[in-house]
Amino acid sequence: MLQLAEIFYSVQGEGTWTGTPAVFVRLAGCNLSCAFCDTDYALAFFASVDEVVERVRAEGGDCPMVILTGGEPLAQRETRALIDALRAEGRRVHIESNGTLPTDLPDDVWLTVSPKERLAPAMAHRANEAKLIVDGRVPDEWIAAFPAATPMFLQPEGNKPANVALAVEAAKRAPARLRLSLQTHKFIGVR
Ligand code: SF4
Repeated sequence: MLQLAEIFYSVQGEGTWTGTPAVFVRLAGCNLSCAFCDTDYALAFFASVDEVVERVRAEGGDCPMVILTGGEPLAQRETRALIDALRAEGRRVHIESNGTLPTDLPDDVWLTVSPKERLAPAMAHRANEAKLIVDGRVPDEWIAAFPAATPMFLQPEGNKPANVALAVEAAKRAPARLRLSLQTHKFIGVR
C-alpha cells in the first residue's frame, strides 16, 4: 500500500510548467527532516496503486499531468508501480524530489529536483529542471552540482521580498543560467 497525505486537482505554480493544470498526489513521509520544511506530508490515508489511479481520474478527469510530490515521493517502494500505472493510463508523470535517492525513471517522466542537505549526482544529471530555494542566500553550491544545460529556477522562500530581491539579482548576474520562479499558486489562493 502507498502512504498518502493528499490528492487534489490544481495548477502547477512553479517552474517550467507554471500554469498547467495537474493532479497532485502528495505521498506521505520524507527521508530528510529539513528545519525549514513547511510542507504537511503527514500520513492521512493508505491506498493501493489502483485506488490512487482511480482517485486521480475522479479528481482530474482526463487531465494529462499528474505530479507526484511529498515529502519525498521516491522514498516509497510502490512509487515505481504507481508511475507505471499512471503512464499506462496515458498520463504524463512529473516527480518533485529532493534528489537524494538514486532512482531509475522512464525517459518520459519529468523530474524536478530541489536539493536540500545533500544530492545524489545521478539525480542531478537526470533532472529535467532544478528548483533552488533562496532563503537569505542563493545556494551557489547547488548551482554547480547540476549540468550546465539544466533549467534552473531560483525560488524565493515564502515569496518574501528580500528573498525575491536576492533571486532577481542572482538571475541578472547569470542570465543564461538562472530564472526566477515564484510560487504563483499562493498569489491566486489555490493549493
Ligand atoms: S526534503 Fe522537502 S519535504 Fe522533505 S523535509 Fe526537506 S523540505 Fe520537507
